Amino acid sequence: MEELYYKTVFFILFFIFMLIRIPHAKRNKKNVNITTKGEKREKILVFIVSMGMMIIPLMWVFSALFEGFSIGLPDWARYTGFGIFSFSLWLFYAVHKTLGRNWSPLLEIRKNHTLITEGPYKRVRHPMYTQIWLWLIAQFLFTSNWIVGLSGLITWSILYFIRVPEEETMMVEEFGEEYVKYMGATGRILPKF
Ligand code: SAH
Repeated sequence: MEELYYKTVFFILFFIFMLIRIPHAKRNKKNVNITTKGEKREKILVFIVSMGMMIIPLMWVFSALFEGFSIGLPDWARYTGFGIFSFSLWLFYAVHKTLGRNWSPLLEIRKNHTLITEGPYKRVRHPMYTQIWLWLIAQFLFTSNWIVGLSGLITWSILYFIRVPEEETMMVEEFGEEYVKYMGATGRILPKF
């Protein structure tokens, strides 16, 4: 299949991703924070991830810069990527809806923060991070390009492994025993049954 076809479909999926995020990002600006953890470090990590999840993939869409790095995956593998993208978008929508005002791009506790333990949070404590892992696996398969695929997975791994222990410590500091119990009942990114 034509590369232009894949690039167009990716751009549409990326656009839907942004449509889901934008209203939450706007609302986030109005929130009052009572605790912020490692703000400078988190901003740097988010910037690094935006390179692998946004800038490099969009450079792939709009230029021929990475053409020499094609993996040459078969169409069926790229279609599998499309399926994972679609599931990931649905999960993204559901998680944002459930987390509501408690969402933040950084590590923050809001005024009137509530601990969410239902919906996608019932068996997994970081379903948004599950969603991002899925999105980036799909990015690897669908773009079938070493630079675009690996830049997403590598930049995200850096944020994920640094942030998650910090986030859980922050949540324990805020919610105490309630979060410790919740940790026992859930998996980090895979459901615990
Ligand atoms: N790690 C979660 C949330 C990502 S957004 C996920 O992957 O779904 C990051 C913010 O969400 C953090 O600043 C934290 O304050 C908040 N948060 C994380 N888990 C939460 C939960 N179970 N309930 C409410 N807020 C949560």
